[in-house]
Amino acid sequence: MAEKTGDILSMANQLQDKMVVYRHHLHGIPELDLSLPRTTAYVKESLESIGLKPTPMGESGLMVTIGGQRPGKVILIRGDMDGLPIKEETGLPFASTNGNMHACGHDLHTSMLLGAAEILKANEEQLRGTVKLMFQPGEETLHGAKMMIENGILENPKVDAAMMLHVITGIPFPSGLFVTFEAGGASSASSDWFEIIIRGRGAHGAMPNVAVDPLNVAAHLHLALQGIISREISPTESAVITVGVMEGGSTNNVIPDTARLKGSVRTFDAALRDKIETRIHEISKGIAETFLAKAEVIYNRSCPEVKGDGELNRQMRTTIANTFGDDSFIDISQLIPGGKLMGSEDFAFVTQEVPSTSLYITAGNAKEGYSYPLHHPKAMFSDDVLNKGAAAYAAFAKDWLENN
Ligand SMILES: [Zn+2]
Ligand SMILES: [Zn+2]
Repeated sequence: MAEKTGDILSMANQLQDKMVVYRHHLHGIPELDLSLPRTTAYVKESLESIGLKPTPMGESGLMVTIGGQRPGKVILIRGDMDGLPIKEETGLPFASTNGNMHACGHDLHTSMLLGAAEILKANEEQLRGTVKLMFQPGEETLHGAKMMIENGILENPKVDAAMMLHVITGIPFPSGLFVTFEAGGASSASSDWFEIIIRGRGAHGAMPNVAVDPLNVAAHLHLALQGIISREISPTESAVITVGVMEGGSTNNVIPDTARLKGSVRTFDAALRDKIETRIHEISKGIAETFLAKAEVIYNRSCPEVKGDGELNRQMRTTIANTFGDDSFIDISQLIPGGKLMGSEDFAFVTQEVPSTSLYITAGNAKEGYSYPLHHPKAMFSDDVLNKGAAAYAAFAKDWLENN
């Protein structure tokens, strides 16, 4: 196995210059959400130029399968393609000038997955089963994976397991290191949004007795919501409730009719997520009634937690060690105490349906001149990791099919 995956790495090395070209082109044309006409057209052309026939999947999504000559299972590998509405300030010669930016490195993921496609195509006859490549729009808005699942990405042929890869930058580790997950379980948080509209009764500021003051309710409610975190969940579990907007009223001496709280909820556990949603409803209603007001809660579930499969995570570490060596990876807990990412990742929707694994690659630290984190207007990523990412995608897919 080590010898075969070695072939994959040397092929990825040969494709390095080509992937740099892909990446610099994509970096210059970042597009948003589910509307990636130029990006998707470029990826489609690139796939066709290596003899593949991608299938459009929903808005701006692409699916392509490789293998299937030998019977076996189906592994999905995902690369996201969308950018962010950030004005780029890197000063790079290939920087975007269209007002959007690939500040999360999705241009690297797309280029790596194109590289992996070429490697897998060259090894097609040896694949014991099928690799399904998922080129996904709308990760940042958490719309894309769900949309592609609704359009059938996990069916025909039915997907048995899935993998995603993400670059990270501006962190205290040298570039080119893989970050893997030791145990199964949630690796990044669910993300939900809520809005609470408090309806009271406005009046002259000098006559609170004839009013029902919604701002008073908002203040009590804000404090009460934090009681869910501090008093109602186990100290060994973690969750966040953040109120990011509290608004109401327009001047000093008027009690307004309404007030509004807007916030977000993050958890790593489906049952805890349900509980927090229920308690936000109950506490809002209770506090409002206590002060003779009414509360309406709008709760929007946007993205579940990313679930990692313990066995797939173990296989990932084996593949990475065989392909790149024993010192090529660290555990997520070495990067983040507790080993969990509070940010959300919409690959979560895939992980809820099939056993899945995630892999991160460090793509720059401050010493190397990469000081800024993901989503920063000055965030930069090293091109030197493109071959590693492509090899990791291809080697894992091939190994997994071989072993399952
Ligand atoms: Zn991002
Ligand atoms: Zn991202």
